Amino acid sequence: MSTITPGPVTLVWLRRDLRLSDHSALHLARSFKEPIQCVFVFDQEILDKIPRLPGQALNQDRRLGFIHAAVAALDERIGQAGGHLITRYGLARQELPQIAQAIGAVRVLFAHDDEPAARARDQQVSEALQAAGIACHSVKDQCIFERHEVLTQAQKPFSVFTPYKNAWLRQLSPEATAPRSTGSDAAFGKRLLPQHQLPKALRTGLPSLESMGFGPGNLDALRIPLGASGAQRLFEDFKPRIGQYKVARDFPGAKGPSYLSVHLRFGTISIRELVRFALEAREDKKNSEGAETWLSELIWRDFYMQILYHHPHVVGRSFRPEYDAIAWETGPESDQLFEAWCQGQTGFPIVDASMRQLNATGYMHNRLRMVVASFLTKDLGIDWRRGEAYFAWKLNDFDLSANNGGWQWAASTGCDAQPYFRIFNPTSQSERFDAKGLFIRRYVPEIAALPDKYIHAPWTAPPLLLSEAGIDLGETYPAPVVDHDLARKKTLARFSVVKAGLGTS
Ligand code: FAD
Repeated sequence: MSTITPGPVTLVWLRRDLRLSDHSALHLARSFKEPIQCVFVFDQEILDKIPRLPGQALNQDRRLGFIHAAVAALDERIGQAGGHLITRYGLARQELPQIAQAIGAVRVLFAHDDEPAARARDQQVSEALQAAGIACHSVKDQCIFERHEVLTQAQKPFSVFTPYKNAWLRQLSPEATAPRSTGSDAAFGKRLLPQHQLPKALRTGLPSLESMGFGPGNLDALRIPLGASGAQRLFEDFKPRIGQYKVARDFPGAKGPSYLSVHLRFGTISIRELVRFALEAREDKKNSEGAETWLSELIWRDFYMQILYHHPHVVGRSFRPEYDAIAWETGPESDQLFEAWCQGQTGFPIVDASMRQLNATGYMHNRLRMVVASFLTKDLGIDWRRGEAYFAWKLNDFDLSANNGGWQWAASTGCDAQPYFRIFNPTSQSERFDAKGLFIRRYVPEIAALPDKYIHAPWTAPPLLLSEAGIDLGETYPAPVVDHDLARKKTLARFSVVKAGLGTS
């Protein structure tokens, strides 16, 4: 790198806050007099862990494609404002201290990330910066309340959602949701370190996906709105629907939820902006129920983040240790069943449609995440950690805290989880939430010709009807891989080892 340094600057390390407005680290950066320089590192440590499909020259990963597009949009906007976004492909723990020293940073700012691996990395980066005499500050950005901000009266973290939510709401103040302003485009541009003052070695362009060993994936075909502008488009689309959210969100065949999860995950939209809107919508009688329910979902997100922060053991182990005594199914037969679940070949149309949606698009509706997670753990008796890992690989919005929380909820091993004896019946869930089979027919076309009455459980259809619909069970579409009633009994027995510890949190 060039030895000429541009003079004292504030370096802002962008991570899961890939936008330029209502942005905590940039807001804080403006309060210092030094010019602002932004950096994004495609962290090799994370990218190297993405599972690879055999025989593919380039790995495919929709999340990386999404991040790349968001960073490209930031690169363009910062460039238009007269600055330059430093982008690197390497180990963040090495790149950050090197870049900070190369540009003569006096401080580095970034937003909190409370995933255990991120905390360890950030600790290492902070120590290296401090050893080099560079100050390091981190700020809250991705949730409304974090860490120790919402506690019980005994100053302990909550592990039950409803009292947490009540305390969260009591604590809410205008300051908690106020925009972290970054100023107008023009004012922001004036605060950026001018591009020409940056050492030449750092003025390289955005690394291509190919240069990092990745292909484009099928993001284009999926038409997922990308970057901060895409997030705003989705948000605008959701705003007039918020009034119907409470009811519509349960039906996967309908456009009920906001589809903003991937944007929240990577910070292409601000959580404060969403909460401000929910609070405002709550005041309007026709929207109040929907807004209240949606706000609750956003609070669940904060809830699981603070669970992960206070209980990092949930990565890999049950929230309640006694549930680690459960003996899950193992061996070749359960491996085969797991594979059938992954590929959407279980013979239960709602499960198969959901898994095929996940594989094809990287999204799965919340109700269906609950249904397939329950099916894996309680119908197939397979360890929730296997399902959690598969979701982590496939979901565009994969977020360790919400994914782990969702899986442990469904498997009944988590905090405030579904009681183990409440076992979803996949067929009745299907009849209730996809009554006309709209969603099923979209993803399981081989049974589309069945009448609504049988679409949820093709094995109950009379043979003549099956053959008229072009279905040969076991050939053109799988026979059910499990008997739900028997599986239910086995699950109740499986969980009996922890019966004594149930109902408390
Ligand atoms: P909306 O219904 O519009 O909700 C708005 C936002 O609230 C979401 O974008 C999300 O950020 C948050 N939210 C909603 N429900 C939950 C919840 N139960 N827990 C935490 N936050 C929530 N969500 C993820 O963001 N990442 C995951 O990896 C993830 N894995 C899950 C795994 C399982 C087994 C289950 C049951 C749920 C999981 N969820 C996860 C929660 C939820 O399913 C998704 O957030 C939601 O489906 C995303 O769609 P949406 O943006 O349209 O949500």
